[in-house]
Amino acid sequence: MTCPLLYRFRVIDRIPEPPSQAATRGTVVHAVLEQLYDLPRGSRSLEAATALVPAVWQQVLSDDEELGSFFAEDDGSLATTWLDGTEALLATYFDLEDPTRLEPADRELALSVELDSGLVLRGYVDRLDVAPDGAMRVVDYKTGRAPREAFQQKALFQMRFYALALWRMKGEVPRLLQLLYLGDGQVIQYQPDEDDLVAMERKLLALASAIGTAMESGDWRPSPSRLCDWCAHQSICPAWGGTPPPLPDPRPHPEPPTPLEGDSPG
Ligand code: SF4
Repeated sequence: MTCPLLYRFRVIDRIPEPPSQAATRGTVVHAVLEQLYDLPRGSRSLEAATALVPAVWQQVLSDDEELGSFFAEDDGSLATTWLDGTEALLATYFDLEDPTRLEPADRELALSVELDSGLVLRGYVDRLDVAPDGAMRVVDYKTGRAPREAFQQKALFQMRFYALALWRMKGEVPRLLQLLYLGDGQVIQYQPDEDDLVAMERKLLALASAIGTAMESGDWRPSPSRLCDWCAHQSICPAWGGTPPPLPDPRPHPEPPTPLEGDSPG
């Protein structure tokens, strides 16, 4: 939706991108918040969350080959810089929620559902809470700052996507979608309804159709925007004077990129 050519580079060509500090810190914070809920309720303190960071960091390095080799020669000082701010993000989380009063139904929940049209939706929900009456609340952590009001609908696109997948999987529309912005302590909430999610489904079908057309024609247009400032592919982008590599042959079926939580506007 933001840039078809960027989608091609990431999903069709699968061109590696250099590790990003913000995305890596986001991955660490997400893993800490996931593991925090493994602890007994009474032990879920900020100190306990902070104490999880070193082990989580080692896990992130061993899970991500590229990141592991990027930090292979590090004596710890680069890691300290990259993880700078993690504690503040966790502290903001504790300002927003009291984890001793919550028992999530699921964390890092993998969603996968085939719509009637045959389109398959897949994604990962950071946290799913289920109230005693069965009402679902979808919670997503963001380690950046909340978008201005004009851009909130864009931020909610991902949440509507999850809500649609959950509705189709469980037969129930989630009651609340909640984005927690740990960068500035803002919370965005939204109550979806069936009409809203039907419209979302139509939008996704149109998007899938546009991707199918581009797969056939090989015409992936650049769409320059502020996103270009963070794009790792400027040097091969025609909008910046570059030339894209030839498309892989045979063209692979688009697979979703590995989920990696971060703050890049992509
Ligand atoms: S530099 Fe901008 S226009 Fe080019 S691929 Fe990246 S996001 Fe798209």
